[in-house]
Amino acid sequence: MGKTLGIIGGGQLGMMIAEAAKKMPQDVSEIIVLDPTENCPASQVGATQIVADFKDKDAIIRLSEKSDIITYEIESGDSDVLKSVEKNAEINPSPEALRIIQDKYLQKTFLRENNIPVSDFVKIENIEDVKNILKEFGYPALLKARRDAYDGRGNYKIDSENNIQEAYDYFKGQKLLLEKFVPFKMEVSVIASRNTKGQIKTYPLVENIHEENILRQTIAPARVSEDVTKKAEAIAEKAMTVLKGAGIFGIEMFVTQDDSIVINEVAPRVHNSGHHSLQSSETSQFEQHLRAILGLKLGSTKLIHNTIMYNILGSKKFQGEYKPLEISEDNLFLKMYGKKISKPLRKLGHFNLVGSNGESIDQLIEKLDTLKPKASVQSI
Ligand code: AMP
Repeated sequence: MGKTLGIIGGGQLGMMIAEAAKKMPQDVSEIIVLDPTENCPASQVGATQIVADFKDKDAIIRLSEKSDIITYEIESGDSDVLKSVEKNAEINPSPEALRIIQDKYLQKTFLRENNIPVSDFVKIENIEDVKNILKEFGYPALLKARRDAYDGRGNYKIDSENNIQEAYDYFKGQKLLLEKFVPFKMEVSVIASRNTKGQIKTYPLVENIHEENILRQTIAPARVSEDVTKKAEAIAEKAMTVLKGAGIFGIEMFVTQDDSIVINEVAPRVHNSGHHSLQSSETSQFEQHLRAILGLKLGSTKLIHNTIMYNILGSKKFQGEYKPLEISEDNLFLKMYGKKISKPLRKLGHFNLVGSNGESIDQLIEKLDTLKPKASVQSI
């Protein structure tokens, strides 16, 4: 008899975890998601939904009473509430791992204390701190919200003295940190997993291209030297050994101009830059996450085909219902997330362009360029 899996968050990540779980009925017999949006993506693929805010204590308690094991697709859960329901259900990654990772200041402090390279950062208590530290850091620098920030929405780039006040006001009293700007050559990430028995596996290094702070495209594998790949994968493994908790972790890093690696941030969950694994790899990150939290042996992370993942983002020109995309091509796998309403830059879907016939990354990039116009969302 399989277990009942509770997931905090039923967006596209919860949806793809639920789809992977449906292929493992002997291990997972039921999926319940907690999400505030009625008819959320995960509920459209057979998960039962509790409609409530991610931080709604009563709803989390209800979820824990119904679940054998709880995981999450967002890192903004309340780690204290999760800790309090550990008697009802196993929580993976653990509330303690979540507590550290979900606060960018605690996370970076923890990584630095463990000799893992991160960009310079300082905790901010007031605007005077920002002014003083900028004298040392220089411009530009990034003011960041410590918590509840994703897709770049928690960052403000300060280019000069003139926009310190604007940057500070933008966060409306949230807890902050200031980070030195890293003039990186490339953004890369490693999707890593640890199962409840301590086995660790990492996926090959991938390259991430962002637009307006949002991931637009992932190239698997990253176009870097073997030396850079080895360094980044070693740092990701080291981060995994110090950060406790079972599940998938998305480890985002910068490759600097002199080919050093610094970690930007770690997400304690399946990650957008791992979506390529649905078609490129022997085990998808979603199946791997389940294997990890259920204490099963981790699957192979071998990359079988060069692949580019391209995100379908909402148009900046409108908000509302949109026409279905018409995009088909050999070895193109389109996945829409069932979101009815498009909003500017909202993640509505993605596709994987897979080099099943041995195509090089350059060939895939050429093909992608011809497909991009068809990947834009039109108003109904
Ligand atoms: P974050 O939400 O902190 O992951 O940041 C979103 C994006 O902002 C990253 O993917 C980078 O493109 C950029 N970014 C964040 N921190 C830095 C930094 N210290 N230096 C340069 N760019 C950064």
